[in-house]
Amino acid sequence: MSVFSDVVGQDAVVAELQQAAGAAAAVLRGERAAGMTHAWLFVGPPGSGRSVAARAFAAALLCPDGGCGHCPSCHQVHAGTHPDLLLVRPDGLSYGVKQTRSLVMRAAGAPSGGRWQVVLFEDADRATEQAANALLKAIEEPAPRTVWLLCAPSAEELVTTIRSRCRLVTLRTPPSAAVAEVLTARDGVDPGRALAAARAAQGHIGRARRLATDDEAARRRDEVLAVPARLTSVGAALAAAAALVKSAEAEAAASTAQLDEPEREALRRAFGEGSTGKGVAKAVRGSAGAMNDLEARQKSRATRLKRDALDRTLLDLASFYRDVLALQVGAGVELASSGHEQQVRALAGRSAPEATVRRIGAILACRDRLEVNVAPLLAVEEMALALAGN
Ligand SMILES: [Zn+2]
Repeated sequence: MSVFSDVVGQDAVVAELQQAAGAAAAVLRGERAAGMTHAWLFVGPPGSGRSVAARAFAAALLCPDGGCGHCPSCHQVHAGTHPDLLLVRPDGLSYGVKQTRSLVMRAAGAPSGGRWQVVLFEDADRATEQAANALLKAIEEPAPRTVWLLCAPSAEELVTTIRSRCRLVTLRTPPSAAVAEVLTARDGVDPGRALAAARAAQGHIGRARRLATDDEAARRRDEVLAVPARLTSVGAALAAAAALVKSAEAEAAASTAQLDEPEREALRRAFGEGSTGKGVAKAVRGSAGAMNDLEARQKSRATRLKRDALDRTLLDLASFYRDVLALQVGAGVELASSGHEQQVRALAGRSAPEATVRRIGAILACRDRLEVNVAPLLAVEEMALALAGN
């Protein structure tokens, strides 16, 4: 099974990347080959698998066999432990210049495995302006064996100077059937549940997998989709808003706790907590500073996770009203709100398409307000009131 079998429903992209990996291998053999580039930009809507495609390409570049999927190198890329793969994702809401500079320095080194040094930059659109400048310099004058893989929702979200130096790879939202097939083949999910999850996730593979395999995530989504039917009064709207925010916070807190403790533990070990003798006082001072640093980063990440969880909630809600609108205007699209068709039909029957459009607008406005740091409860309350209105 090739590393590209993870890239679902993107045949053209896979063909292009395989061709480039072949050209890269030819370059390593000292042949002249066209088709390999030092900077790539993977774009596509959330869930289209930008970083999955980028990682498959990284595996293909680093594998002696073009991305066989089963050699030690391929396994290391999959596990994120390959010494020549630098995986970068923002700890907080953005990449700072300090983080980017140290990355650029590391990327300038030679690959330890003798093939390529690959830097995979997730959410490159989150680079601050200064960070983008540091990145630009590295891409302008690349080390001979370094390959930059940037991922972003769309090319427009990067500064032109970076964008123009990258080769663009555009992914599309994979069809539900293709996503369901992967869940069944790879994760052993029952075909019916796989298709329902794929539709619910609207082509977002990671989300579909979670809905199909994590009962808690499926339960949370059910709760969100039950909200529209309950929005019958101002009081109900405010209660629903509070419940939505609380549930998103609980979800974020669970993942935060999972990530935080091992990091603190690793740091304590690194500074030899509990050891005695010379140098301990110095180590303790150093460890206090590092611990403060870590806590600041964890706090920033917690904020991002909370925002991401709430954003997923809003997207689920938006998909419910999108289904309502599809029924109202007679669009023959597949419904995302599996398990809630009855509520979708009921609302479609007793409201006008104009009202549905207004409600979807209220959800999108709420997302925008969260993006600019409006207090979550305030923004969600306002949205819930707009959803409850006529
Ligand atoms: Zn391999």
